[in-house]
Amino acid sequence: MSGPSHHPGEAVLIDYAGGALCEGAALVVATHLAFCPCCRDAVADLDAVGGALLEELEPDPLAPGCLDALMARIDRESIGARPPHPAPTATTDPRLPAPLRGYLRGPLERQRWRFLQPGMRGLDLRAGGTASVRLLRLAGGVRVPRHTHDGLELTVVLEGGFSDAFGAFGPGDMAVGDGTIDHSPRSDPEGCLCLAATIGALRLTGPLGRWFNRVLAF
Ligand SMILES: [Zn+2]
Repeated sequence: MSGPSHHPGEAVLIDYAGGALCEGAALVVATHLAFCPCCRDAVADLDAVGGALLEELEPDPLAPGCLDALMARIDRESIGARPPHPAPTATTDPRLPAPLRGYLRGPLERQRWRFLQPGMRGLDLRAGGTASVRLLRLAGGVRVPRHTHDGLELTVVLEGGFSDAFGAFGPGDMAVGDGTIDHSPRSDPEGCLCLAATIGALRLTGPLGRWFNRVLAF
């Protein structure tokens, strides 16, 4: 069975299944799941375990008004845990997996792509939570300035691919970067379209760092 070779890892899947990821990070994971039957099965198992644990908990008596407050909180926060279903006006661009379609109107070519560096454009998505979420479009053979992460960077490839010291990443593959990783990815000859969520600041370590930092406005 063919499928992605790079996965989010158990810790990220547990946080996803438990609703602990912010919307932007959950969107990246949900996009990977659209490509990856193995991780879909793992999340289904985690959901089953979580449901069984909830059923075993002894209910505590509720204080007066507690249920109303809880329901109001669930209403407010229900968008955060998992990406919402696409809106009726969502794009139907077949290159985008279903979890992403609710975030765009119209095809990819019609979006307002922002110049980031020669051969690289970005499109910010409005996903709530603490992550900065964007689609990145790289022409063939473009190198992203060397950087590391103070927080967490989750990236999933939609089309084409990129390579760094950790291997080659193709459609559906997910890269998880944190403070221990200093990398400078390079897009494949056919280019790369990917979705990235950055939680916390990127620290740029190469000579282009300051300039790139300003352009990205992290
Ligand atoms: Zn996977």
